[in-house]
Amino acid sequence: MDFRFTAEDETFREEVRQWLKKEIPQRWIELDAGIWEETEESWALSREFQRKLGQKGWLAPAYPKEYGGLEMSHMRRLILSEELNYNSAPISIEAEISVNWVGSALMLFGTEEQKKKYVTEVAKGDAIFCLGYSEPNAGSDLASVQTRAVEDDDGYIINGQKTWCSYAHYANYCWLGARTDPEAPKHKGISMFVADMKTPGITVRPLINILGRHSFNEVFFDDVRIPKNSLIGEKNNGWYQLVMALDFERSLIGTAAANQRIIDELVQYMIEAKHKGESFANDPLIKDELAEVAVENEVLRMMCYRIAWMYSQNTHPSYESSMSLLFCSELLRRLSNVGMRVLGPYGQLDMDSKWAVLNARIMRIYLSALSIGVGGGSNEIQRNIVAMRGLGLPRQQ
Ligand SMILES: Cc1cc2nc3c(=O)[nH]c(=O)nc-3n(C[C@H](O)[C@H](O)[C@H](O)COP(=O)(O)OP(=O)(O)OC[C@H]3O[C@@H](n4cnc5c(N)ncnc54)[C@H](O)[C@@H]3O)c2cc1C
Repeated sequence: MDFRFTAEDETFREEVRQWLKKEIPQRWIELDAGIWEETEESWALSREFQRKLGQKGWLAPAYPKEYGGLEMSHMRRLILSEELNYNSAPISIEAEISVNWVGSALMLFGTEEQKKKYVTEVAKGDAIFCLGYSEPNAGSDLASVQTRAVEDDDGYIINGQKTWCSYAHYANYCWLGARTDPEAPKHKGISMFVADMKTPGITVRPLINILGRHSFNEVFFDDVRIPKNSLIGEKNNGWYQLVMALDFERSLIGTAAANQRIIDELVQYMIEAKHKGESFANDPLIKDELAEVAVENEVLRMMCYRIAWMYSQNTHPSYESSMSLLFCSELLRRLSNVGMRVLGPYGQLDMDSKWAVLNARIMRIYLSALSIGVGGGSNEIQRNIVAMRGLGLPRQQ
């Protein structure tokens, strides 16, 4: 593993930085909408920005050219992702879901016709997907999904309920797991489908998140008829596709860069802010804590690089993705805790207060960090995966 980027890679990084300086709208910076905080206005801005990225081939840069990508190396994809994250570009989590989680799975399991349609649409920024995995009684134990898909002459009829579906209220398609063989052992009777969200019988109801925003939804399927070619891959072999898609979901490669931005802003604040005439930068305890998370973030960065490198070697990160998601979610909680201590009582103020510091971002990250160790599988589930797939320990009986 070579840790240096080539001169061409560094030139590319500079090109991305310059482009972002021109293209990130001023209004987006003012709104400062972080993850899970989208409003109608911020959503519209990020969709527009994603289409621009798509037109440039930068939304799905590593995809093959025939599906809207540039066949860029995964290390370049990492550079792009680092710059988008560090510069807080208007990229919603939906772009990540659609391109890197669902799109990558469709690339592996879709037919040529399905890839031409869905993968190309997401690469261009023209369509977004939501994930129809969790159900009221199937979260960590996802193989217990009860949503049924019954085949008849014309297609499949879907009945059931999904929950926690992020941004289903904006999505064009749902990538969902449904039970196609209720008699088979639970991991062997699931199939994966793509359902057009406009299909009659689909109802989307909002769930409000910890930040008071509408990001989650319940999605109900009542006799929803979808065509035969909505089935992705082999019937009843959906569990395998689901696990692969979850590995993609857990392998976020730009997270260390997003954390670095928070660390840099906190350091700058400590240098500039004064308490009783004295700079915070002199406080040994806070210095200690910030140094600790800065070191840990370097560890996370190496995990991200390892995953990008694995993709570049055409290997599929499995427990490595779980390791990085687990480490990232716990680090983000520690980092936002440190941030709240640095800001003291100011940390509790929201954006509408004139006394808010750093646009109240630390408080918002502090709240949303709680959910990072749950979405994509809880930290306990990631630990189980690392123990079983990484360390070879037996499955719990
Ligand atoms: C921000 C966010 C976005 C999300 N987006 C989506 C989405 O778009 N689509 C979607 O389908 N779902 C989504 N989810 C749902 C998410 O996948 C589930 O919440 C998650 O898998 C946990 O399932 P659960 O909520 O049913 O908790 P449960 O499975 O009921 O778990 C409850 C607790 O028990 C623990 N536990 C359960 N089983 C074990 C075990 N075997 N070993 C050790 N501990 C265990 C868990 O760690 C957890 O602490 C999202 C969740 C969040 C927070």
